[in-house]
Amino acid sequence: LVRLENVNKHFGALHVLKDINLTVFRGEVLVVIGPSGGGKSTLCRTVNRLETIDGGRIVFDGQPLPEEGKGLARLRSEVGMVFQSFNLFAHKTILENVTLGPVKVRGQGRDAAERRAMELLERVGIAAQAQKHPAQLSGGQQQRVAIARALAMEPKMILFDEPTSALDPEMVQEVLDVMVSLARDGMTMMVVTHEMGFARRAANRVVFMADGQIVEENTPDAFFGSPQTDRAKDFLSKIL
Ligand code: ATP
Ligand code: MG
Repeated sequence: LVRLENVNKHFGALHVLKDINLTVFRGEVLVVIGPSGGGKSTLCRTVNRLETIDGGRIVFDGQPLPEEGKGLARLRSEVGMVFQSFNLFAHKTILENVTLGPVKVRGQGRDAAERRAMELLERVGIAAQAQKHPAQLSGGQQQRVAIARALAMEPKMILFDEPTSALDPEMVQEVLDVMVSLARDGMTMMVVTHEMGFARRAANRVVFMADGQIVEENTPDAFFGSPQTDRAKDFLSKIL
């Protein structure tokens, strides 16, 4: 579904992505792990063009990433993103948070958008809170709303950047459960996370990234069972 070819990215003198070659297949769950500052978030953000690249190319659904205008707007609706900080609109209700994109960006009628939003809120277990505001929900609930909001755009793929890192421990699982169920339903997902349980349960492939490079790429069993590089072994010894 998306292919990165020799992708390079600098922030000033800092070379953040170094010749990245990576394909995410339709229906695949790709987990990206690695030490802080390694370029994981930047990698995610290049895929929906929240970051530009300065070398190589990215092909999404058979087309080079659009530069601007309508193409870019369509790309953003086709590639959902869920962040560490839930980024809900604080002054809008949960229901409005989920219907805003479909109504404003995709031109859906309000009634249809609300019906669909309620189905999605049901699916993530938040339907009863639809008329509340984000601040009245727990972190785990807010993140599940953020996932429903991404789904409301009917994306071809969802990027998750450490979706559970800001949550209290007891709320991590409820969010991971929703992500596992999306994975089972065949959603294409690129997930930056340190949740190794999720990686083992849901990932088709694990990419280990450090210093702007893909250091290892393997199945979860092979990666966790017998990491090939000292860099990966060292990282795993610190987080497991
Ligand atoms: P973490 O695990 O801490 O989230 P990461 O692997 O996601 O780290 P990135 O956020 O992609 O890493 O950052 C990679 C490098 O690029 C870091 O050195 C970071 O300081 C730098 N960087 C990221 N965004 C910018 C920016 N907008 N301007 C300048 N430097 C940046
Ligand atoms: Mg990051």
